[in-house]
Amino acid sequence: MTASKVRAALDRAAAVGAGREGLNILVAVNPRAEDDAALSVVGRSEQELPLSGEPVAVKDNIATLDMPTTCGSRILAGYVSPFEATVVRRLRDAGAVILGKTNMDEFAMGSSTEHSAYGPTRNPVDPSRVPGGSSGGSAAAVAAGIVRMALGSETGGSVRQPASFCGVVGVKPTYGRVSRYGLVAFASSLDQVGVLGRTVDDAALALGVIAGRDPLDATSAERAVPDYRADVRRAATAAAPLAGVVVGRPREYFPVAMHGGVRDRCAVALDALVRLGATVRDVSMPHTDYAIPVYYIVAPAEASSNLARFDGVRYGARVSADALAAMYDATRSQGFGPEVTRRILLGTYVLSAGYYDAYYKRAQEVRALITQDFRRVFADGVHLLFTPTTPTPAFPLGAISDPYEMYLNDIFTATANLAGVPAISIPIGLADGLPVGGQIIAPHFGEGPMLAAAAALERALGASPLTTPPSPAAARS
Ligand code: GLN
Repeated sequence: MTASKVRAALDRAAAVGAGREGLNILVAVNPRAEDDAALSVVGRSEQELPLSGEPVAVKDNIATLDMPTTCGSRILAGYVSPFEATVVRRLRDAGAVILGKTNMDEFAMGSSTEHSAYGPTRNPVDPSRVPGGSSGGSAAAVAAGIVRMALGSETGGSVRQPASFCGVVGVKPTYGRVSRYGLVAFASSLDQVGVLGRTVDDAALALGVIAGRDPLDATSAERAVPDYRADVRRAATAAAPLAGVVVGRPREYFPVAMHGGVRDRCAVALDALVRLGATVRDVSMPHTDYAIPVYYIVAPAEASSNLARFDGVRYGARVSADALAAMYDATRSQGFGPEVTRRILLGTYVLSAGYYDAYYKRAQEVRALITQDFRRVFADGVHLLFTPTTPTPAFPLGAISDPYEMYLNDIFTATANLAGVPAISIPIGLADGLPVGGQIIAPHFGEGPMLAAAAALERALGASPLTTPPSPAAARS
């Protein structure tokens, strides 16, 4: 019974072409998956094991013992971590089986999963389109029906944006809600492990398992983990689950020139929220426009420091040279792809002596104003915010070559990372036949009410638009 869930996932992966020649979703498959499935339940009751035998896919920047952890980078080719991430250990302790590692933009820098040393992942809904990124492989694994849930990581939208592009649910928890131990660092003040699920309930289940204080991560919060599934269940059964809930509609997230299909789907979702009992109120978050410039200073600055450790000595690949400095040089030049190199250069520049005040310090000040926007609306009686997750549905592979245009994909998501608040993306319908995501943002540690509202909205809008996962033939086209 248990082994069969894993077997079914492996069969499904084969049928949709999840390997390199097909959708390119999985960069490694756990060689022990079926053995683990059999072992995971021995001597333990179903109650102790909320994820009994459940196959879970894990983004390749999260440390696992049985497979390499490469961050989609040549510089970590073949690197196997000597320890596992706390989130992976918690999943396994709950009975889950790690099915494999998912493709991603190199070091989680990107919004399309095209910047991977393994080549791009294709969107299962339409293989000519990107799945979003950087957790594109995890979103695609769920969308293709391989797994019910997957882990991703968020620095500026990397779980929510691919969830939106692939028609699945994606949660970015409050900063500190989930341990980062074993998540390869990108920008430490923004990074957080997130979950992708087929439904809000799947995501709530996975989040409940991985959340909570971890002595191995000093930034993880000392705060009890609520029963998220109970919140979801209540919302799914109540007659007016959002009675008394004030939902803010921030005008800066609904620009005049927005994509028509995204605007229409958001209007339908807002109407549904009202039918569920919520009051929708127009609000303003005046510093929203600065999120992209601030994020693209803070994140590269922290990345330039975090990625200094990949020097050919301690981890992964080394390109030999006569002298030490030349070895560093050759390893890093050949090991990092162009987007990661661009971020390291940007980050080094904004931290350099002459420019620190003008860029990095200034960006931190504006980051505080963005956080203040959230504090103010939430203090003014707004319980949750509703926005689109992304400006457009999934774009075709290769369509965006200008880095700045790619960065604009994060315009509605990076704000929550900068402020540290939790946010979720759920499918709210189709535009041009492609999934559209709606985002609900909550105050710090407001995951319970956020998931409840998302579950109510999910039910009101009907099943996920992705009712028919792709046929194997579509996957290969
Ligand atoms: N797209 C953003 C970036 O490229 C966000 C990445 C992320 O959240 N990891 O930095």
